[in-house]
Amino acid sequence: MAAAAAATNGGFDAIVVGGGIMGSCAAYAAASSSASRGGGARVLLLERFDLLHHRGSSHGESRGIRATYPQARYPPMVRLAARLWGDAEAEAGYRVLTPTPHLDMGPRADPALRAAIENGGAAEVVGASDDSAASWPWSAVFRLPEGWTAASSELGGVIKATKAVAMFQSLAAKNGAVLRDRTEVIDIAKQVGAWASKLVKSVAGVDLPVQPLHTLICYWKARPGREHELTPESGFPTFASYGDTCIYSTPSMEFPGLIKVCAHGGAPCDPDRRDWCAGGDALADPVARWIDELMPGHVDTAGGPVIRQSCMYSMTPDEDFIIDFVGGEFGKDVVVGAGFSGHGFKMGPAVGRILTEMAMDGEAKTAAEAGVELGYFRIGRFEGNPEGNRAENKEYTVPQTLVEKPFVVPVRNPLLVPVSKPGVPIRD
Ligand SMILES: Cc1cc2nc3c(=O)[nH]c(=O)nc-3n(C[C@H](O)[C@H](O)[C@H](O)COP(=O)(O)OP(=O)(O)OC[C@H]3O[C@@H](n4cnc5c(N)ncnc54)[C@H](O)[C@@H]3O)c2cc1C
Repeated sequence: MAAAAAATNGGFDAIVVGGGIMGSCAAYAAASSSASRGGGARVLLLERFDLLHHRGSSHGESRGIRATYPQARYPPMVRLAARLWGDAEAEAGYRVLTPTPHLDMGPRADPALRAAIENGGAAEVVGASDDSAASWPWSAVFRLPEGWTAASSELGGVIKATKAVAMFQSLAAKNGAVLRDRTEVIDIAKQVGAWASKLVKSVAGVDLPVQPLHTLICYWKARPGREHELTPESGFPTFASYGDTCIYSTPSMEFPGLIKVCAHGGAPCDPDRRDWCAGGDALADPVARWIDELMPGHVDTAGGPVIRQSCMYSMTPDEDFIIDFVGGEFGKDVVVGAGFSGHGFKMGPAVGRILTEMAMDGEAKTAAEAGVELGYFRIGRFEGNPEGNRAENKEYTVPQTLVEKPFVVPVRNPLLVPVSKPGVPIRD
């Protein structure tokens, strides 16, 4: 009802397109920022499917948060997000983030792992000597291959994904935003699509190079007697492994007795015509082999994962986000956030705040104060340079995703936050 009234009575000052974690956080940031300035700005969140649907990237039970990134540009954004997660939880009155330690492991000399340890302020818990390998925390669970190390950090945890998206949507509504799913989004989307392709092309001279990947979340059965050991209550960490295959995990929570262990990657897909079976064994088999080698006796891999859930990544060639003004004739009125490359969820509240400040104030003050360097996320980095920031990362190798072909598909799901004055008229 509120949506209809607001729409027919004129228009909106800020429109957020896309109700995943980024759009929901942006809608909340825009609405709460307006409310804290005495209100007045009308904020609209548009979602093409049902709110909390399962066809994008933000649904499901869990996402990990960590500050250990090989790229130094992410830890400041993660720390900003960690603060904003806490603020939002306080306003909502319930928790979506369960803190846990985080563990990174991999070949001791791996440049990406070394950079992640340094950038994230992690403490190496396995040294070069055999003694330390026998006595480190969780040494009863993990058997590290020779030459590997492990590092623990305090900033870790598990975010309840769908619950978190719902929290930000509720908070946005509570602060006065109008949320609309299914209805009329296609009409708006056509406009957005035209803006995106025309304006991005005119500003950056390139299409946004975002490749959707169909990926798989795998839950595996803990061996009898081991269930409790793998829970946050027992202090079990989220973890990432930097071996040949990039493996990540969250502790046993949502399905008691099961632990989520997945390969970071997937098969290129068309988001509107997905083969929901694609990439199943190609993604599950390397995980089973990894579990058998590194967590022997703790997790049962015979018969494969007990639960498989589909999800989608939006990959950029350098796996860095796209956060920028669209520019051109829209100047600083329209911003785009896209290509979160399978690691954006933890930073959702920071990205939402940044996009909102860019769209409403023309600059992201909060990002600057938090030391977040937005230059890395510009659209223009791909101009004449299809690999974007990847060339800058030659000191180390960014963990590779299991992709089968180069990134060439233009973006289909941009998040746009248009702001115009006076309000943007919305047709019903
Ligand atoms: C299996 C898996 C595990 C992950 N693990 C982690 C993790 O541990 N930690 C982490 O930080 N990140 C993780 N990620 C990544 C993270 O989930 C994504 O980066 C994040 O969810 C992206 O959010 P989004 O809002 O950009 O995209 P989406 O959730 O896809 O939202 C975009 C929304 O826009 C809507 N939309 C698109 N076009 C239009 C239109 N024209 N009009 C209206 N609406 C439109 C779509 O329907 C969709 O709802 C993981 C992702 C997956 C798939």
